[in-house]
Amino acid sequence: MHRYDGDLAMHFERVGDYSVPVCANFVVSLANVMAIFERDLTGIRACMERGLGGSLKPRIVQDGPCQEVVVTREIDLEGMFPVLFHAEGDFGKYITAGVVLARDPENGIHNASIHRLCLLGGDRAAIKLDWGRHLRVLYEKAQQKKVPLEIAVVIGGDLALTYAAATMGLQVPLERDELDVASSLKGEPLELVRCRSVDLAVPAESEIVLEGEILPDQFAQEGPFIEFLGLHSGVGPSPVVQFKAVTHRRSPYYYAICGRETTVLRKFTLEAAILRTLKAAVPMVRDVNLTDGGLNRFHLVISVHKVSPEDEGYQRNAIFAAITALKDLDLVIVVDDDIDIHNPTDVEYALAVRMEASRDIIQLPGARGHEYIPVSDLGVRTKVGIDATVPVSERERFRRVVFKEMDLNDYEHSLTPMDRPR
Ligand code: MN
Repeated sequence: MHRYDGDLAMHFERVGDYSVPVCANFVVSLANVMAIFERDLTGIRACMERGLGGSLKPRIVQDGPCQEVVVTREIDLEGMFPVLFHAEGDFGKYITAGVVLARDPENGIHNASIHRLCLLGGDRAAIKLDWGRHLRVLYEKAQQKKVPLEIAVVIGGDLALTYAAATMGLQVPLERDELDVASSLKGEPLELVRCRSVDLAVPAESEIVLEGEILPDQFAQEGPFIEFLGLHSGVGPSPVVQFKAVTHRRSPYYYAICGRETTVLRKFTLEAAILRTLKAAVPMVRDVNLTDGGLNRFHLVISVHKVSPEDEGYQRNAIFAAITALKDLDLVIVVDDDIDIHNPTDVEYALAVRMEASRDIIQLPGARGHEYIPVSDLGVRTKVGIDATVPVSERERFRRVVFKEMDLNDYEHSLTPMDRPR
């Protein structure tokens, strides 16, 4: 998985003695995501926007493939599924692609989110609930009432649900039902079957579903585990989940998420949400890219289209609008729209030719970022904005020379299609 991270989707037919195959690296690159959605980047973003804003509801159906096999006794997760040990130094085997469904104990609204689950043996696991995560809020509500929180962990469910689960609180507030988000993203009602042992419903077409509850008063040490920054997380007590039923297809696939997929999964929804905010605040914004080097979360490149001297300055407003839209942004670079923001070399060209460090680098000290960034002070750090746009009045001096288009068919040549320039 790591060798082809960011590149190929993987299918492992046989893992050890398990009869369940493993799939991985699905949405690790734009090429893969375009293939899955059968759309280009604009089309993918439109799906995400539809998901964030839509109001379609899921539909309950009588039965589905995810319940072809139902196990309620002697559940042994480690024996049933090839749950992976991901990297040297990890504490144990972790379920990484589990979409955790839960209902708000107060209003019944569904939340979907992805959390790491560490196998503890048999029918138990420890679940990591970071501060501020919606599932943690629901868990704490249940905890106050001293009752367990029912959950269903969906592994290999509808991709629309995976994407809905990958949204963050800023984009989809707790008050919004994330099964509706998944349906809207899909463009049709998500078909659900009722769980066998908890009062929840899961996508009928899922591969594997683990039904259970997060116990209000039991905790287990887990970690270190390789986190999305590529670093080992710390060690700490996490709430214990007790599973009551496991349902799956007759021949299920086990799905694991590690490496680039962790961050690429969020990229397009985040970009759609940031673009919405930016365009409202600064209409001359054309496009954004959450770069791969910035883990699709910490570094943003903004493309703007400046026309007149009256547009001057808005590119800097865009830097702060972006940081407001996504608090995790630590570096925001604004370029003119003749720079290809999806090409890091072209963005660096803009820095080389158009940025004057003494006036174009803006610092915002003591701002809130992500607490996992190790150089920050528990998430507080200096954010940087770079204005690498050309002042409208000076545009002529910076105009890039355009080469004449030519048709190779008009010439005698020995280029083969493989090395023919685009
Ligand atoms: Mn949520």
